[in-house]
Amino acid sequence: MIIGILALQGAFIEHKHKLDSLKINSFYIRNLADLQKPKDGLILPGGESTAMNKLLDELNMKDLLISQIESGIPTFGTCAGMILLAKHISNQKHAFLKVMDITVTRNGYGRQSGSFIIHHEFDGIKIPMTFIRAPYIQLVSDQVKVLSVYDQRIVAARQKNMLVTSFHPELNHDFTIYHYFLNMIDNELTK
Ligand code: GLN
Repeated sequence: MIIGILALQGAFIEHKHKLDSLKINSFYIRNLADLQKPKDGLILPGGESTAMNKLLDELNMKDLLISQIESGIPTFGTCAGMILLAKHISNQKHAFLKVMDITVTRNGYGRQSGSFIIHHEFDGIKIPMTFIRAPYIQLVSDQVKVLSVYDQRIVAARQKNMLVTSFHPELNHDFTIYHYFLNMIDNELTK
């Protein structure tokens, strides 16, 4: 199994460290040639979604990225990565990749005071969740499974091959979300 991590901007190194400690092979995707390499899963990290979107356009990577995700490659978007995947963004006019049936609100917890850690349930398991200027999911279609709700806001969800979290599982010691994602990949590989 090998996982590609989008590495244009943001917290990609932390995802690699988590995968390294699980002994899962991964590589960074920095350009179109990297994106063309075979992989069993894809991670879109946290960071700044506008900046990532701009780089995806400039590097001519967007169409291929969208078609890979739509073709069913297991994809995990954290924070800005979740914003990239959303079909709608409630507080801005244009969305980015527009592949997942969710409406997200960017900087949903306020810009300055928006960083905090909680312990909360994800798919029935209590885990640490680190929020940094995080978005939340305001609305989902009936194609989307809600995996975590905090303070009446959806903070983790899944639609087919796409898993998203408002928070950053790469920034703490818990592996629950990675196990969930690796399980999605295993199920795809054994289909
Ligand atoms: N606020 C950022 C954005 O809108 C996301 C923050 C994050 O990824 N930690 O892109």
